[in-house]
This record gives sequence, structure tokens and C-alpha cells, in this order.
Amino acid sequence: MKSRINIAIDGYSSCGKSTLAKELAAELRYIYVDTGAMYRAVTLFAVNNNCFKEDTLDKQTLLQQLSAISIAFKNNADNKPEVHLNGQNAEEEIREMCVSQKVSSVAAVKEVRRLLVAQQQKMGEQKGVVMDGRDIGTVVFPRAELKIFMTASHEVRTRRRYEELVNQGKTVTRNEVSENLKHRDHLDTTRKEDPLRQAEDAVVLDNSNLTRSEQLKIALRWAAEKINANNKQ
Ligand code: C5P
Repeated sequence: MKSRINIAIDGYSSCGKSTLAKELAAELRYIYVDTGAMYRAVTLFAVNNNCFKEDTLDKQTLLQQLSAISIAFKNNADNKPEVHLNGQNAEEEIREMCVSQKVSSVAAVKEVRRLLVAQQQKMGEQKGVVMDGRDIGTVVFPRAELKIFMTASHEVRTRRRYEELVNQGKTVTRNEVSENLKHRDHLDTTRKEDPLRQAEDAVVLDNSNLTRSEQLKIALRWAAEKINANNKQ
């Protein structure tokens, strides 16, 4: 039997990490875990439970309620995983701009990270997981067999994210999307706890000029190499 590996995908906001991760997982018949959705779900909880005063996070109020947060992934009718917050499907709401604008401040809280990282590590215990986020190759799975660090130019990322939101019927401007990406990248790379950085043993995938199928082909080749190496051990 072919041995399974864990695949960690990190990178800036809207680089296409989740697109690649989903496609890789489907090809390899692995489980896909979107860790951004977990931080977004905690943020949605914080918004709905008075943890923000204006736009500022009241950390103590959130910490007092941390144990009341339960996050799970459930497959929908199309077999696509959706995030559930305290038993309610929250997949749509967590993608709203008001959550995107606040998520990086929630993701900077040490206690939130410790809670979610522990859950993510548990999901990877049996291997066969493709997980995307900001700290997967550095903190969650420092021993993942394959680590991919994705990048793309700011212009390309803004265009992709803008088109995605418009296609979902959301009312946003290109400028709002661009500023949100810059803001999140800044907070994600400069925070004290588990900042976004490239793991030393990660391979870089710049997809500014690649199609979806081209990037998938590259990643599948890398995965096959690691799976073969793992089989020989
Ligand atoms: O991946 P996505 O853009 O949905 O992630 C939303 C936010 O969650 C990121 O901007 C980042 O602040 C946070 N995040 C994180 N660590 C992860 C995944 C996401 O801090 N592993």
C-alpha cells in the first residue's frame, strides 16, 4: 500500500492556495483542510458575541468565551467541506468582507492560535492531509513531507479575489480588495505569534503566470516525488 504524506501549503492572502489544495486533495484522495476558514469562524463568533468595540478587538471578552466555540467541517451535498460554527453552517458568512477585515487581528491572539493549531495537528495524525494557511509548514506540521510556499504578484491576487467576490454577487471595489490584501499580509507577516514565513525546506510556487492545470501538474509532480521517497523508507 502506498504510504500517505502530509502536504502543507502556505502563502499570502489570495494566492490561490485553497484552489490548489482542493485540487491536490481530490487527485490524491486526501483530506483538504482550510485553516483560514477556522480563523474566520472564530472571527465570526467574535463579531456576533460583542468582542469588537467599533473595529477594535476586545481580547479579554473573546478569551472568556473561547471554550464556547466549536468548529467542525462537514461535507455538503456536492461532497465539498463547509465550516460549521457551533452547529450552524457558516461557510458563506465567514467570507464576508466584514470578517476579512477583522480576521487577522483575531488570528494574532496566541490563545486562539494554540486552540486551532492543536485541532489542526489532530486532523493530520493519520496523514493524507492537504492543509493550507500561513503557519502550516512552520508550526502545524513542521515535519510535513511536502511544503509549498505560494506567491503571486499583488495585481494578480487582487484581480483574482475581486473577480471571485463579484462572481459571488458581493458588492466590493477593486481598491477595497487590494487594501484588504495588503492589510492582512502586513498583519500576518509581522505578528508575534506564528507569523507567515517560508519554511526553510519549502518549495516556492509563483503562480502569477500559471494556469490552474499548470500549477496542479507541478504540485502533483512534487507530491509524487515525496510519496515515492516515503515508500522507500
Ligand atoms: O486563508 P484565508 O485568507 O481565508 O485566511 C484568513 C486569515 O486567517 C488570514 O489573513 C490570517 O490572518 C489567518 N490565518 C492564520 N493562520 C492560518 C490560516 C489563516 O493566521 N493557518
